[in-house]
This record gives sequence, C-alpha cells and structure tokens, in this order.
Amino acid sequence: MNKKRKPLELYVHIPFCIRKCAYCDFVSGQGTEAVQRAYEAALLSEIDAAEEASGCEVATVFFGGGTPSAVDAQMLARVMEKLRSKYVFSGNAEITLEANPGTLNEEKLKDYRKSGFNRISIGCQSVHDDELKRLGRIHTFAEFQESFALARNAGFTNINVDLMSGLPGQSEEKWEESLRTIAELSPEHISAYSLIVEPGTPFAEQELDLPDEETEREMYARTAEILREYGFWQYEISNYAKPGLACRHNIGYWNRTEYLGFGPSAASLFQNRRWTNTTDVSSYRKACGAPEKIREEEQMLSRQERMEEFMFLGLRMTEGISMAEFAEQFGEAIPDVYGDVLKKYEAMQLLEERGGRLFLTRDGISVSNVILADFLL
Ligand code: SF4
Repeated sequence: MNKKRKPLELYVHIPFCIRKCAYCDFVSGQGTEAVQRAYEAALLSEIDAAEEASGCEVATVFFGGGTPSAVDAQMLARVMEKLRSKYVFSGNAEITLEANPGTLNEEKLKDYRKSGFNRISIGCQSVHDDELKRLGRIHTFAEFQESFALARNAGFTNINVDLMSGLPGQSEEKWEESLRTIAELSPEHISAYSLIVEPGTPFAEQELDLPDEETEREMYARTAEILREYGFWQYEISNYAKPGLACRHNIGYWNRTEYLGFGPSAASLFQNRRWTNTTDVSSYRKACGAPEKIREEEQMLSRQERMEEFMFLGLRMTEGISMAEFAEQFGEAIPDVYGDVLKKYEAMQLLEERGGRLFLTRDGISVSNVILADFLL
C-alpha cells in the first residue's frame, strides 16, 4: 500500500532586479547576463546537493526575489525542470512566480505557463505614478495595467497584486483609490502591506513625511472593509482573497508545513530544524554545492519554540488555530500553557475561542504585533 507522502513547499530566490527600490532590503541587485548564468549554475547545484525530502510531495512552489521575471524565462524553466526531476510534485501543486511590471511580455508569460507556473504575483504597490516614483519603482501604473492584461491573456487565472500603504505623503483617499482601482480589476488575491522603513535602505536616510499612527490604523481598517465590498475575504493580517483562492504557499508557512528554500537568504524548515542561507551572493555562488557551508543560523527547535511558532504563526490567520491540533502535537491543552495570555486577551475581546478554534477578533488583528509577541513563553 502507498504510504501517504508529507507535503513539502519549495521556495526559489532569484536575486536580480532592474533597479533597487528606495525601501527595499531584500537580497537583490542588478546582474549582467553572465552573472545570472553563473547564479543559475549555483542554484542548480544547491538543489542537486540538498539531501532532504525523500518521502515528501511538493504541494507548492514559490519563485520570489528580487524579480524573477527580470531574468530569462528559460532560466526559470531549467530550474523548474531540475526541481521536478528531484522531487515528487502533487498533481495540483500551486506554482507561483513573482513578477514586476516593466519586465513582462507575452512571450515570457507563455513560457512561464509552459514551465508549469499557474499563479503570478505582480508588484503594483500603488495606482498613482507620483507614489511609484517616490518608491523608486521602475514602472508606471499604465505599465502595471498592461502586465495584468497580458498575464490574463496568457491564461493566468490566479493572480495576486501587491499594494503598499503608509507611503510618504499618502492620504487615506489616495490609498482607498489604489485599493478600489485594483479590486475593480478583479484579481484573485491582494496582498496589502504597510511600508516598513528598514535600516540601510535609502528611505532610512531620508526625512519621510509618513502618515501618523492614527491614519495608518484607519487605512488598515478601511482596507478590509473596502476589499470586502469587492468579494475579498481577509484570511491573514495582510492578505485578502476571493473565496477558495488564498495563497496555499503562505498558508503552509503559517501552518508550519515543512519547506526548503534555495538561493541566498532563503529560509527552510525541515524536521523541526530551521536554517537560512547566507545572504552573501558571492559566498553562496562559491559554496552552493556544499549545503552545510551556505546554511546559517541552523537551529533545532525545542518543544517550547515549536509551541510558540504554532501560536504566533497560526494566529496570523483569521481562522486561527485548532485547539485539538495543538493538544495532539504537544500533549498539552492550550489553556494549560497559555492560560493567563488567553484570559487577558479574551477579556479585552481581542481573542476569541469558538468551535474548537482560537482566533484574533477584528480588533485583535489590528494590534496583532503586541498580542502575538505575548505568545513567546
Ligand atoms: S522590485 Fe522588489 S526586490 Fe526588487 S528592488 Fe524593488 S522591492 Fe526590492
């Protein structure tokens, strides 16, 4: 009899962009064709050398970056081929490609479909060209619209659009206009993150006229309300989807499904071991055939750390966590471990228990950072 295979998620990092955005702290930069070829060779040897995952079935794949659509589509095809030759894929695996306007064309999109990509995530961020310029994005809103239409025509029936709130000089009206304009295009999924000014980025060096906390809170509350009008359901702090079209890759991450990440800065969780690959692209290229040399911060998670992750990752999702599943995994009931925290937030109506699940209320979601931190034992 066939033993059921465990689900596995794969992430592939493509660290190339046309130009660096002013807020970006991801591992990404420009790369000549020769550098990209060398990177491809390194990535393929890292995948070859990885020993994990026999007995698993790939449920989702996510190519992120960087801008995967900035490199030759054939390079992505070869990486996909390598993954397929190494792992068993589920028949309905969700395979996502991150893409940016200004780097897509009909030909490439057809090639992505041929390689098996069935979901595309397009970085729009704003429908206002002045905001896009301020962010240092390489594209205009018109170019986004063109990319979106091309993706639909190429047969992508599962499209995510990324938007960003809390931008310098952004008013609530402008944010709402971005949300409504994108919702009207009817993508299947919208990710709406608020800008975080990361140290070391050009934004961190500038005087930014950022919306105040009160405006940010209002923008956040309006996001869910507006998107609900258009049929999007908030399933996580920053993610909204049409029914049945939540991103399975993200959900797996919050449910602690095992995943392997390839490429510099890619993170992995496998058999309760976490590690992150070096962020240094040139050390990565030199040592990628020997995974032990590129993996950093390798850590075997203790029972307590696993419990903490179960809570603070699971509670990010609006449907929360299963109390029974916690008890099954850890042999203890949630109230026995987190009794005081539960009492405190239930009394404040920020946390609720219903039907065997524990979840943040609407008010709880808007202050989730503080609550989730309280689940660290
Ligand atoms: S496109 Fe994305 S990864 Fe590239 S520089 Fe901009 S924010 Fe960073």
